[in-house]
Amino acid sequence: MTRLENRVALVTGAGSGIGRASSLAFAVEGAAVMCADIDEAAAQDTAAQIAESGGTSAALKLDVTDDEAVGASLAATIDELGGLDVLFNNAGIGGGEAGWEQVLAVNLSGVYYGLKHAAPLLAERGGGVIINTSSIAGLVGLVGAAAAAGEMPDEPPGGAYVASKHGVVGLTRQFAVSYGRRGVRVNCINPGYVETPMTAGLRENEQGREFLSSLHPMGRLGQPEEIAGAAVFLASDDASFINGHTLVVDGGYTAR
Ligand code: NAP
Repeated sequence: MTRLENRVALVTGAGSGIGRASSLAFAVEGAAVMCADIDEAAAQDTAAQIAESGGTSAALKLDVTDDEAVGASLAATIDELGGLDVLFNNAGIGGGEAGWEQVLAVNLSGVYYGLKHAAPLLAERGGGVIINTSSIAGLVGLVGAAAAAGEMPDEPPGGAYVASKHGVVGLTRQFAVSYGRRGVRVNCINPGYVETPMTAGLRENEQGREFLSSLHPMGRLGQPEEIAGAAVFLASDDASFINGHTLVVDGGYTAR
């Protein structure tokens, strides 16, 4: 028996990187998956990949900064796939070019809207699981290449991203405490640097790639499938007593 048989999962940011790998992994474990992304074509592509492998899926366009749309996406999942057991609040943007408001809107408010709508709904339906994607940046400050070289910008470039991801850890703990008795487990995953389109710019030259790899004691970056494995675990009954946890999947980045 597969680990997510008869479950229905909604994944945000499902059109790329960690969200796509997790959608595929959930489906392999037997879940029906609603693939949601601001990039509708990308979400449809992930759903099509699941269907081609014999799984059950659907797709929708979702901007997680839209409070009402997040609520509506949960209802659409129940309508189209017949239930809702798992929400993976994964959509996010890097701190690169987006400003403070946009990073906080997507990475923190987007996660909050998911929690706010899904936690009571799952509780009412008899229980469920919510997983949020935080980051190593939810636990420690980031060491940029410039800072590592001794350059000290007036404003650290990762500030908004780090603040948003620390906020996700806080929200995870609060909702876990508030909903534990109502059958809803809430956890987050804190990845190190992972090879997805989000980090493509940082890895485009060999020097950048080597610098990032050197920050991880395993001497390499993560693969999206390695984060997906953690998401499957947290979504499954193997994690039935895990609640309010920050699951670090970082090749040892934060162990130093
Ligand atoms: P990714 O490959 O860029 O995928 C993110 C997906 O989310 C993209 O399809 C993106 O669409 C979508 N998205 C962006 N804004 C959205 C919005 N407002 N509403 C709905 N979807 C939206 O990035 P990833 O690396 O898989 O990142 C997934 C999560 O992991 C993020 O929360 C990220 O912060 C976190 N994370 C990543 C790393 C890493 O090293 N990659 C490390 C730690 C944590 P567009 O492409 O159209 O923007």
